[in-house]
Amino acid sequence: MSHTPSRRNVLRGLTATGVAVIGFAPATRGWATTADADVPDLVGIPPLDGTLSTDEASLAAASDDFGHIVHRRPVAVLRPGSVRDVVTMVRFCNTHRLPVAPRGQGHATHGQAQVAGGLVIETAPLAHIGPLGPDCTTVTVGAGIRWSELAKATIAHGLTPPVFTDYLELSVGGTLCVGGLGGQTHRHGAQVDNVTELQVVTGAGEFVRCSRSRRADLFHAVLAGLGQCAVIVGATVRLVRAPQTVRHYLLPYDDLETFLEDQRTLVREGRFDYVEGQISPDSEGSFRVHTLEAVAYGPPAGPAPDDTDLLRGLRHNTSGVQRADLAYYDFLDRLAPAVAALKEAGLWAYAHPWLNLLLPGKSTPALAARMLDALTPADLGPGVVLLYPVRRDRLTTPLLRAPDDATPYLFAVLRATPPDDTATVERLLAANRAAYEVTASAGGTQYPVGSVPFTRADWRTHFGPVWPRLERAKRTYDPRGILVPGQGIF
Ligand SMILES: Cc1cc2nc3c(=O)[nH]c(=O)nc-3n(C[C@H](O)[C@H](O)[C@H](O)COP(=O)(O)OP(=O)(O)OC[C@H]3O[C@@H](n4cnc5c(N)ncnc54)[C@H](O)[C@@H]3O)c2cc1C
Repeated sequence: MSHTPSRRNVLRGLTATGVAVIGFAPATRGWATTADADVPDLVGIPPLDGTLSTDEASLAAASDDFGHIVHRRPVAVLRPGSVRDVVTMVRFCNTHRLPVAPRGQGHATHGQAQVAGGLVIETAPLAHIGPLGPDCTTVTVGAGIRWSELAKATIAHGLTPPVFTDYLELSVGGTLCVGGLGGQTHRHGAQVDNVTELQVVTGAGEFVRCSRSRRADLFHAVLAGLGQCAVIVGATVRLVRAPQTVRHYLLPYDDLETFLEDQRTLVREGRFDYVEGQISPDSEGSFRVHTLEAVAYGPPAGPAPDDTDLLRGLRHNTSGVQRADLAYYDFLDRLAPAVAALKEAGLWAYAHPWLNLLLPGKSTPALAARMLDALTPADLGPGVVLLYPVRRDRLTTPLLRAPDDATPYLFAVLRATPPDDTATVERLLAANRAAYEVTASAGGTQYPVGSVPFTRADWRTHFGPVWPRLERAKRTYDPRGILVPGQGIF
């Protein structure tokens, strides 16, 4: 259907250069601006509260991500002024069979939020915080809010979401669509396990509130569902009491097995509120410097930390232990100074062919040793290696695939390498693939935030017993298959 664009469309469809987007030209599958007003069969864009942009800067930004490896160019970027805009444009894209991808903070590393020839929906404008739920045990937020903003807002009321990613400048929608793992996961599960309701726009353009008791099939298809069935526009997130300060320990270990055993002891006992670990190269370039990171929350979220109690029986080196008392937010945001330094040095703009795996606990010593032996400081670049356990019984979200083992370990090789050296990037992607294959043959999985070349058949294997459920939800909620092709699942 063709119609003349209204004054509101023209005003709201302004591109950054001041040229108005007035319609979609099905014949060329492009958006038309006032300069192309005489394009035949122009379909006017529906009225929007926000803006639809086709300017070069918007399209270039949406064709890139933190990985700087994959580049797919959309035809337009929506900055929604309301949830209604998301509904409107998803319906519009359905009609014209345009692919759609929501984009939070664009911190995916392998094109997951990109969409060739389609529409990118930036969720950042969907950033409300509140209302608080009954007894202040939950808060409802817009999907575009960053975890840093949510932490600050809730801490002001003595409250906090229970689980955080290491880096806080990720969007709530972006991490809920992958899982959201952190040092608190051994206690509280992943971020997806701490959501009581989602507000979504399905691939068919229907606004739905879903939860464990209401449209549960959709709820479980969206959490850790890699954007396949719906755009998350809001989430109701569980809150717990926030500590005022925390005691933060860095405990050095010479030996991988002792490091892993002590980590496992700590997460089984729940002695600390947060447990992670890092492995760095020694002076000879071998990845043999193991640092266990553990944090105990102080009042009112926990008792006053007692060193003797907390460190009881641990077999770390006695020299080189670091201990600090930090304000709670400073602990959560502890990466901020390092990130600022990386940005200053231009290293944040490096390519990030990241490898993120979940290893079965029983095979972790052998698998981690094998992969660390093969790793060189040059292939890590100015990145880090993380290795820490989670508890399988705390992971309750069906689509967050983890090994069938009581204590899987997250193993993350967060590589950074110059983006113009494409041969090295390709070699590292192949190394990621090889590491994934070794892990999968031992019963491990990929944690899908990295850059592991994956086929559709691999995704079926990845989802295993829950694949039929995801496939059914995709058919039901995104019947034209327009959502998030960048994941390469369907
Ligand atoms: C520096 C850094 C540190 C990190 N640390 C951790 C960590 O400690 N723990 C952890 O678990 N992960 C971590 N990650 C990975 C991160 O959680 C994921 O990459 C996450 O998806 C990024 O969020 P984003 O807002 O940037 O999403 P984007 O990159 O914008 O999008 C990622 C995917 O989610 C989809 N998506 C985005 N928003 C929505 C929405 N509202 N509805 C539906 N689908 C959506 C996109 O289409 C895309 O497929 C880290 C990443 C970086 C770069």
